Amino acid sequence: ARVLVNAAGPWAADFLAGPLSKPPSQRLRRVRGSHIVIRRRMPDARALLLQAAEGRVLFMIPYEGDFTLIGTTEVEVTEALRHEVASAEEIAYLCAQTAVWLREPVRPEEVVWHYAGVRPLLDDGEAGGASALTRDYRLDLSAPDGAPLLTVWGGKLTTFRCLAEEAVDKLGPVLGDPRPAWTARAKLPGAETERDAAIAPWLPPALRQRLASTYGSRLATLLGSASGLEDLGVEVAPGLFERELHYLMQETWARCAEDVLWRRTKLGLHLSAPEREQVALWFQRFSS
Ligand SMILES: Cc1cc2nc3c(=O)[nH]c(=O)nc-3n(C[C@H](O)[C@H](O)[C@H](O)COP(=O)(O)OP(=O)(O)OC[C@H]3O[C@@H](n4cnc5c(N)ncnc54)[C@H](O)[C@@H]3O)c2cc1C
Repeated sequence: ARVLVNAAGPWAADFLAGPLSKPPSQRLRRVRGSHIVIRRRMPDARALLLQAAEGRVLFMIPYEGDFTLIGTTEVEVTEALRHEVASAEEIAYLCAQTAVWLREPVRPEEVVWHYAGVRPLLDDGEAGGASALTRDYRLDLSAPDGAPLLTVWGGKLTTFRCLAEEAVDKLGPVLGDPRPAWTARAKLPGAETERDAAIAPWLPPALRQRLASTYGSRLATLLGSASGLEDLGVEVAPGLFERELHYLMQETWARCAEDVLWRRTKLGLHLSAPEREQVALWFQRFSS
């Protein structure tokens, strides 16, 4: 490789220590955040921002039409990162802290799904809880023994464009291609053209709405030359046709039912366990 970018998020230091045997130049604190999903509580599309007892901010957001998303927690992860899940304590915490503000408190039994992630937070040496840590990022470019190595420390979703632009600004000269930045006004994939209201009028309205909001202008690619539901292949689960599964495999590298149901879409929330199983079986049949 002419250059290597370590964008392993919360695992950035592990990547340096493992494959590259390099000491980290920054310290990260890894802080798990968990979310719970319950059946819809909100009367309309507005979200609520609530304050927890210790001053942290919690949110309740209308989610996927029929649900409400509640988050989040901050739990320092000190061991090696594995498959992080919301603990029973975190679920109880979210229920208890939101209960202060709700006429009808959320009960842990109401939770239909939960998920957790780990934030890569730069350790700026300040004492205090995770809420007080900076959400800023740092980019370190070094040229160890071989190709130049750029490591991304920290970062937010909201700043990813600035971060990416800065990263490419640093790498351009290294690659002998110091082009001026051009992405600030570039549209993201799926937003290249206005959504076309006339696209696929033959799709049932609910399916059309879901596909359009998931894929934006890429829906035209997904549908290809299809001119009716019969062109979308087998309906593997309600509202999920083979054509979408093939698109997700080819364009987004989905490899299993979990990728489709929970990572690329949130269809898992809307389907029953036997329907989700149908998707898993489809992948099994397809890959055998
Ligand atoms: C609970 C929670 C709430 C958040 N809320 C917000 C928010 O409201 N607003 C906001 O802007 N940001 C938020 N963030 C932060 C945001 O999600 C992260 O900052 C962002 O995902 C960082 O992006 P990244 O690409 O650097 O790392 P990641 O998204 O973590 O991606 C790193 C990738 O590297 C892969 N990887 C790791 N090691 C290796 C290896 N050795 N080889 C190959 N691949 C590897 C991982 O599998 C992963 O896919 C939140 C994060 C969490 C956890």
